[in-house]
Amino acid sequence: MTRREWLQLSAAPLASALRAAEVSSLRLEIVRLRLKHTWTTVMSSSEYRDNLHLVYTRGGIAARGEGAPIPRYQEDAASARRAVESLRGLIESADPRQFRKLSAEIARRLPGQYAAKAAIDIALMDWVTQQLGVPLYRYLGLDPRDTPVTTFSIGIDTPEITRQKVREAAAFPVLKIKVGLATDEETIAAVRAETSKPLRVDANEGWKDKEEAVRKIRWLESQGVEFVEQPMPAAMLEETRWVRSRVNIPIFADEACLHAEDIPRIAVAFDGVNIKLMKCGGIQAALRMIETARAFGLKVMLGCMIESSIGITAAAHLSPLVDYADLDGNLLIANDPYRGVTVENGKLVLPNRPGLGLLPAN
Ligand code: MG
Repeated sequence: MTRREWLQLSAAPLASALRAAEVSSLRLEIVRLRLKHTWTTVMSSSEYRDNLHLVYTRGGIAARGEGAPIPRYQEDAASARRAVESLRGLIESADPRQFRKLSAEIARRLPGQYAAKAAIDIALMDWVTQQLGVPLYRYLGLDPRDTPVTTFSIGIDTPEITRQKVREAAAFPVLKIKVGLATDEETIAAVRAETSKPLRVDANEGWKDKEEAVRKIRWLESQGVEFVEQPMPAAMLEETRWVRSRVNIPIFADEACLHAEDIPRIAVAFDGVNIKLMKCGGIQAALRMIETARAFGLKVMLGCMIESSIGITAAAHLSPLVDYADLDGNLLIANDPYRGVTVENGKLVLPNRPGLGLLPAN
């Protein structure tokens, strides 16, 4: 055998193995997450949420992403799935190590559909950091001991069930209470009948009148509430600014601020912003939002939708960068398929494993 023949023979299996390792595949599934309690906010009431789960495989590494579509922005699981399918060719042929280039191309091709974008982005970042063999927080240069306490959210319910939910949340040092209906005083009274813990309140745009909003917030101040999220409709920026100048606790934006480019406009009316991977389109977009919010002197909270441990763990890896966390979506569901971030005495504990660090639930 000549040297040339030997090289050709020995290189052939290696080359095909290398090619196989460089093939990407995408698997999509709509997963029904069942809620432990009926989940009621000003916007809706539901027993379950359908989210898009995505497995991206390349070079023997399986990475996971999740999209929790937000109905308020005309997204659902089916539209998120169609959106990812429309990008399948692009994603499967791209080099995930060049994720910034790929994300820019996705943003150019796909208007809206931020839950779909988040699912792709989370999976890409999981893949890249698994491939490097480091946890996502380490890749981002963060100290896992800097994670904040997460609130546990109490959805709107009868006073009896509210009291039961507060008892069930005994392990959490701070609670987030959903308000925004005519029953707000009863809800807070039910919570206060059970606990004297600090509370944070989310009105989900529920108060339409600025004087009513001031009245309610002043009363909440007397009830040990630390801050209020989105007291008035997103479009009522001027009214929110008026309210903010008449109350003593900070006002956070949620529905009024979806993307980094919203921050300069809303910074005049709010003290802080609730950043969610599902609103802005994933980890990279959330990092841009955090930096932009800081540039405008705003406090930062990381929030979530009803999500499994995929989405919640992805957000938790960014949490050493923020002041407050409301990352409890996975704790509200009965059938989380994964384990990732955990909570100890309310504090987020990041998995010390490569990538997001997800394991199967069982
Ligand atoms: Mg909110």
